[in-house]
Amino acid sequence: MRIVLFGAPGTGKGTQSEKLVAEFGVPQISTGDLLRQAVADGTELGKRAKAAMDAGELVSDDVVIGMIRERLNEPDTGNGFILDGFPRSLTQAEALDELLADMGRPIQAVIHLEVDNEEIVQRLLDRGRADDNEDTIRNRLQVFQNQTQPLIEYYRQQGKFTAVDGMGTVDEIYARIKDALPA
Ligand code: ADP
Repeated sequence: MRIVLFGAPGTGKGTQSEKLVAEFGVPQISTGDLLRQAVADGTELGKRAKAAMDAGELVSDDVVIGMIRERLNEPDTGNGFILDGFPRSLTQAEALDELLADMGRPIQAVIHLEVDNEEIVQRLLDRGRADDNEDTIRNRLQVFQNQTQPLIEYYRQQGKFTAVDGMGTVDEIYARIKDALPA
């Protein structure tokens, strides 16, 4: 299984990834988690990423693509992976396609969790992570619209895009995702 869980911040990608990991035994790869770990570890990469993260801007493509390249080369991705929060820009999507083409393991499906903006803001305020204040949330939604939304068309043209209703209970949404998984 090689899929991208796609969606704005707060649409439940992390929650749903956990369920997929538990059922299918492939790792979740979240660039947000990897970046937060780098910040917590005080690495050079973490220092470079922190300001963008605090502002709700995208961390530079170079940094994130390098991180993903390393992660995808780890042996636990042998049976596949769930990408969560990556790619987030056209440059990232193109780099990913190239990387996976070299490995002979292309993305099979991109599943978009669709949630109303007002619901998103409420969920993130309830979550209360360091970057979950109202200003940063609005900015992240704007960044999603400007830089990440174009990927919908990119993957639609590849015939890999599916949208799933991300409103409802965790289990209802999970059932919809399973229906959208590649055969
Ligand atoms: P959310 O989905 O709630 O925005 P994430 O954990 O996915 O949370 O991301 C948190 C922050 O990490 C983003 O606001 C951004 O600064 C940075 N980030 C995560 N993934 C990427 C990526 N693929 N490209 C650039 N920046 C990223």
